[in-house]
Amino acid sequence: MPFGEIIGQDRAVAQIRLAWAAGRLGQAYCFHGPSGVGKRTTALALAQAVNCLRPAPGPDACGGCPACRMIAAGTHPDVVAVRPEDKAVISIDQIREVGARSSLRPYQGRTKVWILDPADRMQEPAANALLKTLEEPAGISLFLLVTAAPSALLPTILSRCQGVRFDLLGAETLRTILARHDRSSDEAAAIVALAAGSAEQALALDLAAARAARDRVVQDVWNALDSPLRVLECAERLAEDRPRLEEALQLLISFSRDLAVLKAGGEAVALVHADRRDLLTALAARTTAAAILSVFAAQTEAQRALARNANLRLTAEHMLLAMRAAIRAAGAR
Ligand SMILES: [Zn+2]
Repeated sequence: MPFGEIIGQDRAVAQIRLAWAAGRLGQAYCFHGPSGVGKRTTALALAQAVNCLRPAPGPDACGGCPACRMIAAGTHPDVVAVRPEDKAVISIDQIREVGARSSLRPYQGRTKVWILDPADRMQEPAANALLKTLEEPAGISLFLLVTAAPSALLPTILSRCQGVRFDLLGAETLRTILARHDRSSDEAAAIVALAAGSAEQALALDLAAARAARDRVVQDVWNALDSPLRVLECAERLAEDRPRLEEALQLLISFSRDLAVLKAGGEAVALVHADRRDLLTALAARTTAAAILSVFAAQTEAQRALARNANLRLTAEHMLLAMRAAIRAAGAR
């Protein structure tokens, strides 16, 4: 898929595309950001751009020449995806092979491209071997490290890569992607509400299972507001890992948004969680607009804290305590 067809990552794509168009590509990039938002697709677009036989105006890869098609199919000899093998790690042997082959001339294309995905699956010996390769003079190889957990990479590796940040996808982008995959607009609206900004998740989503998981999170959080001890326990569950907490936050924020809509009497505005209208209406009736806004503020603040790499558990605790204070002040719990 050429750059021009990637949607929802304008900033990241522009950063790479401008460098390429100006002939100023670095030797190594680290594409980092949440899972399923287009990092791998963009890595392949760049591999196509640097090896396309008939570049299109833009400039961009054509997407249709033999080189572009082979890259999309994963069969181009100069574009290699380095993925975890044994024990789910990228081994030192794999990286040594990359090192040995990276200085050779490309077989067919102009540039050899190595896509390490996910790059955080390199353990230290493999990472050190890669570092040695990256320290050699820039040649005919381009290294693309793809990861949802850049902090798990060695700082020395990161300092050798230009960082490109990818963000969660917006609702509009997800709807467009779902439409491309022939989902109806009603189905898409329900999926987008639960897909937490990830196209991969949206396309793979089992709607009934996702709704059940949503209900469990909402119920768990609501029960936790009962007592400080339950808050701590719930925070521990939510903060098990970063994607889980990000997902829960996205969900809670959309729930609060629906509550605010109902409290404001905005019947004409579509609810994100329309299938739970009865529950939302009952909750909205039991609390005040001020409390809903405080809860919403606590949740968005937690989201900002995560973006600043704050401690997961403390972020979750802080948010739940603020939610509890707001709900208690309104006498709803
Ligand atoms: Zn092409």
